[in-house]
Amino acid sequence: MDDHPTPSDTTLIKGGWVVGFDGTEHRLIRDGVVVFEGDTVVHVGQHFEGQADHTIDASTKLVSPGLVNAHVHVGAHTGDRMIFDAGRRDLFRSGFMNYCTTNGINGPTLHDYENADVAIKYSLGCLLRYGSTTVVEMGGELGGESEGGKLGPLARHAGELGIRIYMSPGLRSAHHYYDQDGRHQIHWHSETDELRTLDAAIDFIEKYDGAFDGRVKAILVPLEYHLCSHELLRRTKSVAKEHGVGITLHLAESVLEFQDSIRNTGRTPVGMLYNLDFLGPEVILGHGLYTTGHSQVAYTRGDDLAQLRETGTTVAHSPTVFGRRGVHLESFQRYLDAGVNMAIGTDSYPQDMLGELKLVQIIGKIADRDFEVCNTREVFNAATLGGARALGRDDLGRLSPGAKADILLVDLSRPRTGPYLDPIKALIQCCDGEVIDTVIVGGRTLVQDGQLLAWDHTELLGEVRQSCEHAWSKFSEYWPDNEPIETVFPNAFKPWDGA
Ligand SMILES: [Zn+2]
Repeated sequence: MDDHPTPSDTTLIKGGWVVGFDGTEHRLIRDGVVVFEGDTVVHVGQHFEGQADHTIDASTKLVSPGLVNAHVHVGAHTGDRMIFDAGRRDLFRSGFMNYCTTNGINGPTLHDYENADVAIKYSLGCLLRYGSTTVVEMGGELGGESEGGKLGPLARHAGELGIRIYMSPGLRSAHHYYDQDGRHQIHWHSETDELRTLDAAIDFIEKYDGAFDGRVKAILVPLEYHLCSHELLRRTKSVAKEHGVGITLHLAESVLEFQDSIRNTGRTPVGMLYNLDFLGPEVILGHGLYTTGHSQVAYTRGDDLAQLRETGTTVAHSPTVFGRRGVHLESFQRYLDAGVNMAIGTDSYPQDMLGELKLVQIIGKIADRDFEVCNTREVFNAATLGGARALGRDDLGRLSPGAKADILLVDLSRPRTGPYLDPIKALIQCCDGEVIDTVIVGGRTLVQDGQLLAWDHTELLGEVRQSCEHAWSKFSEYWPDNEPIETVFPNAFKPWDGA
């Protein structure tokens, strides 16, 4: 890029390949162009006859719309998800219950020992650098969004960085904890406390929806189906309607949650939300794994997917975090064929959407034992158009006139890309987020030559490592039975004990 554009400047990108949107679907344009003015795309095609203030030569690159990441936990989990590649057998290897659970009703958790501010910045940096230009945050309360009437670190840092974020403080009626015998329990809060969480979210919507030139947007986040009363869910739905915002929650993500729902309500998690009139086109379910017919729930009757299709509900699919525990969606193709809108989220580290897409495809094929399913077009669409649809945005996840100038320049000249017939297949099957050279959001270049421009990512990595080392050193204080981390999550190899 020659110099920094001003908001009204016109920028022309000359790409080796351009993923253009023709109003209906993505198309590939060899040696195509994208032109944006300010924060908006004004032209996509084979040629551009007008004058541009700036020209970006991307002749060795793929010009792609920025990816819409429909499920992330920015404010936490630097210290756990990636590192602990196991789970408790009595929780059916559910990931989140292992880590978000307190030792005693009001006891500590791993997150109490982490430096949340550093974790947020490091994590936002990873998301952006690896191609997510829009993210949906799932655990918002850890960022203290409107603490003391002020904007908390999560929205503030996202705003400074320039990424698009959907968020608000999380809603809950209960929390997980381990009792004296180390067993998992759920502690239900008072009605006053649960409504207080909704008040905080409404406060956030009223004050901050649309902050930072519209890049910070509100979405209501009942944290988990498992932890929300039906009354809280009903009220959430009506607040969403009243304020014109979406909703996202964790649902059907563990066998335990599915079985509890059947025992307590007689319905599956999806069936229960359908019965509450909660589902709808503004609702994103993370992760929707355990639906009727899943081989691990022993529940073959009913048709959860038909209810998701009928209501226009989205499922945010994150195969990495579940694959690490040996479980998967059954199957990506079955959901697509049922007419369910599918979006993709990274959920966990390394917050790399391209890495996630590779697993969507591979695990999707394995799940169906069919190499003809889960094709590259559907996977790329889910990470762009599917996520945008879930957020009710026809100006994201595509490059066409009127869309936001959220653009990735992907370096296809790397050895790992190899010779390719189709750059999109090469992107998903051979690459990870390291091949992304430039990230532009709303017309502003935020990542160049693979480096964040706003912050020193290497410095943040050092700080987040320090924070995690500290949290791990205190492991026995928050883990049931007070065992040390080496016993509960042993490293791949034993430490050297010789001289
Ligand atoms: Zn999650």
